[in-house]
Amino acid sequence: MKALAIDEFGGPENFSLIDIGLPDPGPGEVTISVSACALNHIDVDIIRGVSRLPVSLPFVPGIEVVGTIKNIGPGVTGWEIGERVAPRVQRNCGRCTPCLTARQDLCDELEWISLATSGGYAEELVCHADQLVRVPENLTDEAAVAVQVAFGTAWHMLFTRGRLRAGETVLVNAVGSGIGAAAVQLARWAGARVIGTAGSDDKLERARAHGMEAGVNYTANPAFGPQVKELTGGGVDLVFEHVGGSTFTSGLESLKKGGRLVTCGAHSQEVVPFDIIPLFRGEFEVLGSFAFVQTEVEKVFDLAARGVIEPLVDSVFSLAEGARAVERMESRKAYGKIVIMP
Ligand SMILES: [Zn+2]
Repeated sequence: MKALAIDEFGGPENFSLIDIGLPDPGPGEVTISVSACALNHIDVDIIRGVSRLPVSLPFVPGIEVVGTIKNIGPGVTGWEIGERVAPRVQRNCGRCTPCLTARQDLCDELEWISLATSGGYAEELVCHADQLVRVPENLTDEAAVAVQVAFGTAWHMLFTRGRLRAGETVLVNAVGSGIGAAAVQLARWAGARVIGTAGSDDKLERARAHGMEAGVNYTANPAFGPQVKELTGGGVDLVFEHVGGSTFTSGLESLKKGGRLVTCGAHSQEVVPFDIIPLFRGEFEVLGSFAFVQTEVEKVFDLAARGVIEPLVDSVFSLAEGARAVERMESRKAYGKIVIMP
């Protein structure tokens, strides 16, 4: 079967389309015939060699996949050949203390698709059956592959970690990004009022179409805390943050007393100074959030199947055009998921 692999770290120019033989599925495993693979920032970090993950070369990237079961290994029950599935991008061990206390997101031995298994920029993939999620029939492959990471991450941040409730106000930073756009939709569905930030006015305009009430351009106004407080009459209950740098600190400055900030990323700047005095006087909470669990993925697929949320697809490329897909990812011009369809 064909796969797109890198044999040295660097840019998309290092990709080559190669023929590799995958092993038959072992005990508890299935082979998936890949219909679609969505790109994620972690793919680019791996390709560039800056992921801080144990990557050995040659390497086939791609963590977010939708496909059909082609072959079933010994001992697999509950799944049939031909079923359409999405493997959860991280598989938890099921044995450690976090796994046994309903905190699978904190598993000590998380296994990533493409690192613990073969990657999704390929015609086929072998993974464990216990990480499969059924894909609803009425979603196309392109739409289905745009659901898991964006909406699963946003669900875990907004509701599980951020405890967002109906009637509250949430500030979503970088509403033009995959998880930002997903957060706007999920927060509106939950009955929250949504304010957003983005680096350009047209990204703000797109988020308004999904129910964002007011937007702030953080390129024009990086210190946007006072503007958010003015827009909301005193500040927001929750900040949804994943950018880092000044959007993190301005996010903290946007909170009302007792507010929470939940973060899952820091691409723009990882170490930031912030003022401790308002943090304790306002009894703010700063919450970390990492990935999501199986039940959250099942919930967001259900919302997508019912048309409650709209998976956003930017563009579709063939496997041979994979380098162009990664270039588009790195251009940061995409709105929605970039998808490779073998
Ligand atoms: Zn575990």
